[in-house]
Amino acid sequence: MEKAAKIVVDCPLRDIDKTFDYMIPPHLDAFIEIGSRVIVPFNRRMVQGFVVDIEENYINNEKFKLKEIDKVLEFPSILDEKLVKLAKWLSFNYNSSLFSCIQSMLPRGIKLQLSEQYSLVRSTLDSDFNDFLSKPRQLGDILDNFQLTKDQINRYLLEGYIKKTLNIKTVVKEKYLQEITLDRDIDEITVPATALRQQQLLELLDNQQRLILSELPAPLRGAVKVFQEKGYIKSKKIKVYREPDTLNLNEVQPKELNCQQQKIFGQLVESIYEESTTTFLLKGITGSGKTEVYLRFVKELINNGKDAIILVPEISLTPMMVSRFKERFGDMVAVLHSGLTEGQKFDQWLKIKEGKVKIAVGARSAVFAPFKNLGAIIIDEEHESTYKQEEQPRYVTRDVAKKRLEQTNGTLLLGSATPSIESYYNSKIGNYKILELNERANNKPLPNIDIVDMREELIKGNKSIFSHSLHSAIGETLGKGEQVILFLNKRGFSATTLCRECGFTFKCPNCDVNLTSHHQGNFLICHYCNYSLSLPNSCPKCSSKHLRFNGLGTERLKEDIQKNFPGAKIIRMDNDTMSTASSYNEVYQNFLEGKANVLIGTQMIAKGFDFPKVTLVGIILADMTLNFPDYKSSEKTFQLITQVAGRAGRADYPGRVILQTYSPEHYSIRTSSQYGYEEFYNEELAMRRSLAYPPFTRLAKIEVVSKSENTGRAVVREIYNKLEEKLENIPESIQLLGPVVPAIPRLKNKFRFMIIVKFPHKTSFLNIINQLNLIKFKSDIITNIKVDIDPATLM
Ligand code: ADP
Ligand code: ZN
Ligand code: ZN
Repeated sequence: MEKAAKIVVDCPLRDIDKTFDYMIPPHLDAFIEIGSRVIVPFNRRMVQGFVVDIEENYINNEKFKLKEIDKVLEFPSILDEKLVKLAKWLSFNYNSSLFSCIQSMLPRGIKLQLSEQYSLVRSTLDSDFNDFLSKPRQLGDILDNFQLTKDQINRYLLEGYIKKTLNIKTVVKEKYLQEITLDRDIDEITVPATALRQQQLLELLDNQQRLILSELPAPLRGAVKVFQEKGYIKSKKIKVYREPDTLNLNEVQPKELNCQQQKIFGQLVESIYEESTTTFLLKGITGSGKTEVYLRFVKELINNGKDAIILVPEISLTPMMVSRFKERFGDMVAVLHSGLTEGQKFDQWLKIKEGKVKIAVGARSAVFAPFKNLGAIIIDEEHESTYKQEEQPRYVTRDVAKKRLEQTNGTLLLGSATPSIESYYNSKIGNYKILELNERANNKPLPNIDIVDMREELIKGNKSIFSHSLHSAIGETLGKGEQVILFLNKRGFSATTLCRECGFTFKCPNCDVNLTSHHQGNFLICHYCNYSLSLPNSCPKCSSKHLRFNGLGTERLKEDIQKNFPGAKIIRMDNDTMSTASSYNEVYQNFLEGKANVLIGTQMIAKGFDFPKVTLVGIILADMTLNFPDYKSSEKTFQLITQVAGRAGRADYPGRVILQTYSPEHYSIRTSSQYGYEEFYNEELAMRRSLAYPPFTRLAKIEVVSKSENTGRAVVREIYNKLEEKLENIPESIQLLGPVVPAIPRLKNKFRFMIIVKFPHKTSFLNIINQLNLIKFKSDIITNIKVDIDPATLM
């Protein structure tokens, strides 16, 4: 009787859940468990893999003897059994390869680089060869330097002249520092009076006891060497964890929760002791003290020996959340998001894995933070579409969190001022427990939102981008020494550039979209593929010199503000100006300290920002999101308006909001301007019901992307027919729509085709789609098939 393991290997097979069996050799048995990372022979190479199952009583077939696992890399295993189980669930539910699911749970830096190396065992006749192989070399290096064939190398191997070893490195290394301390009594050390550097070093050591070698100025390092040789000092390696920057908030900690918060806190605490998973939806207006509730709840979890994960929708929001948690919990907090360096990501993950921290704050993938005793996952701004992963595995964070918490009977807490229609619906039908906070914690009222109909401004002869009332409000606010936030959901200078004579518009040659102009209109850039072009002097079609910029971007808005209000100090915040996480911190800190008085930005500024001196928020054009061809565009618009408005009047000065639009009668705009969530929800839900959209049905998007229009069309047709055939004998009502051409038919020079599937909540559809194994079907360098279950949009 022997033991075997099922292993997913790191190779581009792309089957959904293909595993391979390997024997567990007796000498490795004690170190192999579910979740172990191993090295196995595969197709005459060595590759890394993960153990996903262990079979205790494997009967080895003499004819097809299984190969053995070669090495185990870590013990205890890199993933625990629960995460492996979650990976299997992910793979099935999001139609993704099991390997990609496991990979998304680990920091990239931990990935292995494997290479085979050859080195000398006993001398051959060729002394150059012997010399060369006195250190380990790669095959390619050997073949480059000597006239040998692979066969000859193999013969050397067989005859025992050389041996082959596998060199294993992780992409990122753990970080260590050299610490030096005196190894003798200071009086026993004599330094020549002329050796100034040595004198200096001795003095430092005397004062500080321990020094970090890499922090010493270069000239002193010579002295360190001398001291080492004389045996005056000893050095040791100390492990360090690379830490991201945090903000300096100086937050005053509220002493007591208010009455509403207290009630909610009580319910949350109760759930800690329950033997099942509870999902709460905390619906609380902006500034109502949701974060304060999170902080208290997490404190309670920690007191009970449990760990907690707090998720925020995007990296621009992590510094604030992290800083608030660090202020409260100090070193118990790790940070995980894509803005960190590979080294920081690796170390933060390691701290969690090693049990050095109890709390992780991060973006979506932090849902996989490797805590052992997870008590809760908190998802802040749960309605945000960034909680949907757009690459394989295309998971919905909320649902993954719930699944994960079922393993430890933990609590899922969703927070939002404007819950997603799905979550609110779930609270109405009893799947989630609703908790509400409907007043701001400091009792300040929400700012009034005034709607300005831009069509009327035009009739009055105002062609500028500022309505009369917004213009005067900006002037007044700046005059009082207060701050303004202006929101415009389009970066760049202008949305389109067109010829006034012939109507020519500049389009991307690779995508079916208009080019956006940037840098005062001097450059035209595609926001989808980054194609760029400098603006020609005349129209490429008719040579007219009359080119016009149409539609507005944040860059132009900044210019217009500067022209209209010469005294304004403006900061712009969008994808063009924010390239790194530290630029967010910088902008945040600058605006907080009043180094600027106008903040212009895209949806990046809509959430989380808490600036006490902001008393005016201007929404330059609310229609922008409304016009997206997607079933969620009304919901998005409602949420954005509510959030942006929530930036005004947060502290001692009352705030106001001016919303400019061409469609004031639209229900998103009408209801959001009155903070009418319930009203909006009812209208939206009725629409979803009549058109059979979520939450009344689930959706899947099958997208075929091809370099060839004809191939793409043929493949999508074929998939459609196959699906139709499979669905014929299924009693449940599954609806196939399409093939359809999406709103942007061509992206990055590839043609897109889609099938939309509507299927019920209890479903056999996932079985069917997994059996089809579409990621493998016809996928090649020309054509690619993407399956997205519960997609964030249908665009
Ligand atoms: P939200 O997350 O709902 O936007 P926060 O938790 O950030 O709200 O709270 C908004 C502000 O009110 C913060 O400055 C916070 O310190 C303060 N605050 C929260 N709860 C209380 C309380 N019980 N008493 C006084 N101030 C509070
Ligand atoms: Zn493009
Ligand atoms: Zn022209």
